[in-house]
Amino acid sequence: MRSVTILGATGSVGESAFDLIRRASAEQPIRTVALTGGHNIARLAEMAQALGAEIAVTAWPELLPDLRAALTGTGIESAAGAAAVAEAAARPADWTLSAIVGAAGLAPGLQVIERGGVLALANKETLVAAGRLVMDRAAQTRARILPVDSEHSAIFQLLGQEKAECVEHISITASGGAFRDWPLERLPHATVAEASCHPNWNMGQRITIDSASMFNKALELIEAHEFFNIPPERIRVLLHPQSIVHAMVSFRDGSSTAHLGLPDMRHAIGYALNWPERHALPIAALDLAQVGRLDFSAPDERRWPALRLAREVMQAGGAAGAVLNAAKEQALDDFIAGRIRFTDMAPAVEHALEQVARASDFAKSPGDLETVLYWDDMARVAAGAWKVTA
Ligand code: NDP
Ligand code: MG
Repeated sequence: MRSVTILGATGSVGESAFDLIRRASAEQPIRTVALTGGHNIARLAEMAQALGAEIAVTAWPELLPDLRAALTGTGIESAAGAAAVAEAAARPADWTLSAIVGAAGLAPGLQVIERGGVLALANKETLVAAGRLVMDRAAQTRARILPVDSEHSAIFQLLGQEKAECVEHISITASGGAFRDWPLERLPHATVAEASCHPNWNMGQRITIDSASMFNKALELIEAHEFFNIPPERIRVLLHPQSIVHAMVSFRDGSSTAHLGLPDMRHAIGYALNWPERHALPIAALDLAQVGRLDFSAPDERRWPALRLAREVMQAGGAAGAVLNAAKEQALDDFIAGRIRFTDMAPAVEHALEQVARASDFAKSPGDLETVLYWDDMARVAAGAWKVTA
């Protein structure tokens, strides 16, 4: 019987995966090894019971008594803390989804890679912060990483058996998020609530705000560069308000192929779950006649400076990805907490990149988790100090 683990089960991607696994189990049993979550203890316990998980883990030690109480009499083990989440990831399972948000996903994801497992990766931060490390270790341990970010799943599907030298460039699409059509002068006054509404996708709050700032697309550019080993100048962003085309691959013969689907994460999760097969999924089929029109344009980098920062980071290499990722997380925390404005996030991240780039060894790709976390810490401090020095 196939076994699965979901890291970040209580989040938006985790819920979609739960839905697919519960349905699939009805036909062909799937054994659930571990489910991990954070604050949402009631939902974690409910999911663990519904799937008959071996263990449920919360990232927060102070919530362990609540989790234990919620699982009393079920026979399901419980544990808490970052180390327990990583231990859950290290337990053998045939397929492990990393759907934790932020750099916290890195250590558990690496555990899956170290045991040579199949890692379905929604946590793009893993590749942004530690792309070289993760890809090198995966090659050594023969772990298999399957992209779950919709654009990267699309590229993965489009590339198939194509030879790298035939690919001219790839394009990932961006909806433009909440402020696509706002006048530029209104952006500094954007509130957290306004930034937290996505026109097409229903996602966690952090990635939704990152969509409005396009830091999400910035992370995805780096993710594509690291995962597919494509040079930065061959990866483009295409503004596409309808979010129907997820990615395009353009070949040297002048033709392009595109991947289309309704904006539902169960496509990409289901594709990774069933790979290398393609199974039926409980998702409405795309009806282009009903969609009517698809629009495309080039994104304006004055509105979305995060895209320029991503290109600079890809060119710089070394620790730049770890710094961008952590500085962005700090700037996002500061925006959500009301300490900085929406339009301050990109300058805070740029400031952190400039500051940290002066440190020795910045040009060297981190070779282990500790080194990634060292740059991560330094970047958070630098981004957090931006307001003071600006
Ligand atoms: P959510 O915020 O909805 O969920 C995050 C999950 O991680 C929850 O289970 C949460 O627990 C848990 N979590 C939060 N903090 C920690 C921590 N410090 N340690 C361990 N677990 C933690 O995020 P999304 O589902 O939106 O996104 C998850 C990842 O997938 C992100 O990397 C995102 O960029 C990526 N992604 C998301 C897409 C989407 O459609 N949402 C699309 C493509 C990629 P709890 O909620 O219980 O506190
Ligand atoms: Mg995406």
